[in-house]
Amino acid sequence: VKKAWRNRFASKEWSNADYLEHWKANCVITPSGCWEWQGFCYRFRNIKPGQRGYAAGCYRGKGVRISRIIAGWKLGRPLTRSEVGMHDCDNHPCINPDHISPGTQKQNKLDEVARGRSFYANKTHCKHGHEFTSENTWHTTQRDDRPRRVCRECSRIKGREVWKKRGKETTARRRIRRQQLRAASLQLPTVKDP
Ligand SMILES: [Zn+2]
Ligand SMILES: [Zn+2]
Repeated sequence: VKKAWRNRFASKEWSNADYLEHWKANCVITPSGCWEWQGFCYRFRNIKPGQRGYAAGCYRGKGVRISRIIAGWKLGRPLTRSEVGMHDCDNHPCINPDHISPGTQKQNKLDEVARGRSFYANKTHCKHGHEFTSENTWHTTQRDDRPRRVCRECSRIKGREVWKKRGKETTARRRIRRQQLRAASLQLPTVKDP
């Protein structure tokens, strides 16, 4: 028995199907068809309290996220850093190969927006409570290439504050410059800056 145990767990001759069978034995199959991992789950930042993380398993001597390995099998090569295993069922501990597809993080996020699960895309109001209507929203890629929504009402308020601070100063300066020009044309002594 001991030898068999060793052969089973220490050899690297396991096929992917063997791994899948081994992992499936550690899952509970839900009515929706998800294979929910019962072992340890990686909890990353996106995992909220009360949710479970991503199935953590051992594959060819390494600790892995099982969903990523399964997505790699579908792709025919290991995933790169920019690629992810996307869950079609939105259930993080699920390792059913039918629910996992390989994709880029961009695809994953667009998918999230389409399903209404995106935190930022679901925001309907800016942080000062103005609604993101089509008139009130400025779609921009300022500073970097990431598109974002800017609240026009907030920009207007900010602009007004800036004008209050600096606008008076500029009007005062303009008045002085006009007086200076007039004085020059009349060849009178110039007005000093206050
Ligand atoms: Zn699933
Ligand atoms: Zn606003």
